[in-house]
Amino acid sequence: MQWLARIFGNKKNTTHERPPQIFFTNTLSGRKEVFVPQRAGIVTMYTCGPTVYSKQHIGNLRPGMLSDTIARTLASAGYRVRRVINITDVGHLVGDGDHGDDKVAVSAAREKVTPKSLADRYTKEFINDLSELNIAVGDIQFPHATDYIKEQIAFAKTLEEKGFAYPLPSGLYFDTQRFPGYGKLGGVSAAELAAGARVDVVAGKRHSADFVLWRTAKPNDLQQWDSPWGRGNPGWHIECSTMSRALLGKEIDIHTGGEDLAPIHHNNEIAQSEAASGRTFAHYWLHNAFLTMSGEKISKSLGNVVYLSDVIEKGFDPLALRYFFLQAHYRTPLSFSWDALAGAASALERLQRLAQDVAQESKHKESPSEARGHFLAAMRDDLATPQALGILWDALRSEEYAPAEKWGLLQDADAHLGLSLLAPAGPGALAVADLPGEVQEMLARREAARVSRDFTEADRLRGEIERRGYRVDDGPNGPVVTRTTL
Ligand code: AMP
Ligand code: ZN
Repeated sequence: MQWLARIFGNKKNTTHERPPQIFFTNTLSGRKEVFVPQRAGIVTMYTCGPTVYSKQHIGNLRPGMLSDTIARTLASAGYRVRRVINITDVGHLVGDGDHGDDKVAVSAAREKVTPKSLADRYTKEFINDLSELNIAVGDIQFPHATDYIKEQIAFAKTLEEKGFAYPLPSGLYFDTQRFPGYGKLGGVSAAELAAGARVDVVAGKRHSADFVLWRTAKPNDLQQWDSPWGRGNPGWHIECSTMSRALLGKEIDIHTGGEDLAPIHHNNEIAQSEAASGRTFAHYWLHNAFLTMSGEKISKSLGNVVYLSDVIEKGFDPLALRYFFLQAHYRTPLSFSWDALAGAASALERLQRLAQDVAQESKHKESPSEARGHFLAAMRDDLATPQALGILWDALRSEEYAPAEKWGLLQDADAHLGLSLLAPAGPGALAVADLPGEVQEMLARREAARVSRDFTEADRLRGEIERRGYRVDDGPNGPVVTRTTL
């Protein structure tokens, strides 16, 4: 009953049972390490999210896939995972410099809407895309940078008071030379960072790698606030240090994002957070490689973008894209083409058909098997999804395994890979996490009633849910909810 655990939290984790070993490649050490959380049974994970000045392309969804795969693997091993994906709606500048125009403000002006309505629209589309990929968005907090202005100012003030920041007319800057080990993530030297740092020349900057914490407003800035350094807006990096601390604490277990963020954005996050707290900011750093097309990174600036809406318009199940992502290890660049996606879609359909046969043959009875052990070992070995898929295919096609063993393996496969193999959702099926809280609660109560064989109460609750515009059908993996027209 994974969906119930999603609503009420995974209660499975305990300090009595030793969780299985899980290994991740940590960008901080450059090595594969065994994962040990700070608190038994609980994991905190922060993922750098999108800048919501335009629609997100399918490359932008790869970081979401990485953090989802981490979360599923940890949750299946008994951990409760607390997750944040931030929404950047201020501070990320055109050209990535410290003093260009704000991306959100530029797009808002072009589309003649307020920055807030622009950001809200693209945030909603992004979260919807994640949900289409079977990512349980109800389990994730999505804080907006503009909702944490006071906290960002307080954070920058702390850094100034501790001597890690200095003011200039153009803003407050972080002094990278005051922070020992600056650039430790990915083993980038300070000289390389300086060379790669923004090429905007700022009068008075002590070192070229120094970066802005709070930027002095230009008179026409659409988004600006009062601060101890005058009217202005936050630098891009400070939001992640601030929101991560506010929502997950000073020290977090896992931090993830696209590999392009490691050298500057993530090194700057580390510098800010560790300078302020004197503690380790994040213990494990995981980065996904790029999604490419015809040999180039899919990127808005190159203009070679494909959106999830294009995938759906062409008649593909969004889970075909999920399958496509899982075919590659997260640290490997992945090349997108429509043919490759079609290949993934047909593989997924074949897998779903195999799963349906297993459902019938096994009568939903499950038992352990060697294949399950191998599958779990692959997932727990730095999320080896291509190997895990291979193990799944081999076992389902093999005559060596009994139907109940295959059914058991499918339980693990669905929990880790999220391909809805046990209960193909069918058209219109909604993720439980996306339903209104009241309906989620009724669903949970109805399930409890069914389990205790109180079918009168279960039927009453079904009626209540229907009156709210939703239809419930019972699938092998929990209820399948669709929208009805009232
Ligand atoms: P951006 O909107 O470019 O700041 O990107 C938002 C997130 O998506 C960051 O974590 C990037 O690293 C990631 N990202 C952007 N383009 C790609 C791509 N082609 N493949 C994988 N990740 C990407
Ligand atoms: Zn970030």
